[in-house]
Amino acid sequence: MSCIFCDFVSGKRKKQVNGLPFLALHETENTISFLSMNFPEKEDGHVLVIPKKHYKYVEDIPKYIHHELTDHLIKLVKAIRKTHEGCNILLNDGKSAGQTVFHSHYHIVPRDMKDGIEIEVWKNRRVSEKEFRKINKYLIKRIKSV
Ligand code: AMP
Ligand code: ZN
Repeated sequence: MSCIFCDFVSGKRKKQVNGLPFLALHETENTISFLSMNFPEKEDGHVLVIPKKHYKYVEDIPKYIHHELTDHLIKLVKAIRKTHEGCNILLNDGKSAGQTVFHSHYHIVPRDMKDGIEIEVWKNRRVSEKEFRKINKYLIKRIKSV
């Protein structure tokens, strides 16, 4: 199955779908980052950091590559912090979480006060202590099972 990120890494494809070029920002042995074609209205772009090899979901990425991804992310965050107040680091894992390219990747979105970006807005609900404890318990059970 074809994958746009694999095609960027292999050099098979040099342009993003909207015609903007694929340009590497920073590269390590197993990771590469580049500016996404999706620019937030009031920020100077956002960056994608990907493993060079194809892994569908975050849990498929081997540990040593994940360490490299983390170092890569931190380097970019330090660079972004020179000119921005903060950033969101996101990974959409699965269709229901907004993943559209099934080659696992991190987003770094530069953030400043009043930039108007709403990453995800959801309604909170009140939860009883009983339900809170119940959910805590079943999560522990599932965590122990993996
Ligand atoms: P996600 O929704 O987390 O899977 O993120 C997908 C990212 O890949 C977004 O930043 C998109 O702009 C980018 N993207 C999706 N399709 C393409 C494409 N055909 N060419 C370049 N970038 C793409
Ligand atoms: Zn891929």
